[in-house]
Amino acid sequence: MDLRRFVVESRRRFKSFFPFAGGGASRAGGKCASAAVDKCGKAGYNVGMNKRNYNREMEEIMARSQGSSLLLHSCCAPCSSHCLEVLHAVFRVSVLYYNPNICGEEYEKRKQEQKRLLSETGWADFVDCDHDEEAFLRVAAGYEGAPEGGARCYRCFSLRLEETAHRAREGGYDYFATTLTVSPLKNAEWLNQIGFACAEKYGVAFLPSDFKKKGGYLRSIELSKRYGLYRQNFCGCVFSEREALSRHTARAEELSEAGGAGREEKRT
Ligand code: SF4
Repeated sequence: MDLRRFVVESRRRFKSFFPFAGGGASRAGGKCASAAVDKCGKAGYNVGMNKRNYNREMEEIMARSQGSSLLLHSCCAPCSSHCLEVLHAVFRVSVLYYNPNICGEEYEKRKQEQKRLLSETGWADFVDCDHDEEAFLRVAAGYEGAPEGGARCYRCFSLRLEETAHRAREGGYDYFATTLTVSPLKNAEWLNQIGFACAEKYGVAFLPSDFKKKGGYLRSIELSKRYGLYRQNFCGCVFSEREALSRHTARAEELSEAGGAGREEKRT
């Protein structure tokens, strides 16, 4: 399945899973997740009817934040490349590598690539974390079979953003943010709603974003090529790895029937 078809399919699944999506995901996990949904309803963050322009909001904040400190949650080096290129011009950035969702050896592989990008560019400091896979499995429990883009992902986002907000407050940062909005496969509305809810809970400012806008996603691919970054072919957790494997198998079968050769699909 090519990227465009995958996005369309993910959105379709997302809507069928959360028929009121945009107004909130009623089965969301984590305290911040619930708060985001509550806030969404009470404060009128009506995603479906009146989309906010998070990229513009970010630019407005950046225009008045020169020299401020930012704790940036990063999922991987390729996604962080464009975000860091934009942010380091304004903020003193520290990258937080908190990704308990990433399974097995893949975690270390992505972490080392993240560190290499930072050491080659000097765009940010690196803040490491323990690889606590149990933390992810706890929030994913009961949602193992949910499709990518569904309830498990909402809980996964909440887990990572909540930890980022917590550490931003503890570290005295001015802002926290996430690279996750650079991916066309991630729900930027959810990510921003969760971010604002965590900001309220921890008393530290959230920098909203939609990094894929204005060619941001394509720029992340260009930068990945420039720095020779490893680009994975699945989102990160063991469940997404299985999903990717079955996509790849189905694609290979399609191509084999059509007499062509398979090509690995990149996911960042
Ligand atoms: S598919 Fe990606 S975002 Fe969703 S739960 Fe797995 S790692 Fe997290």
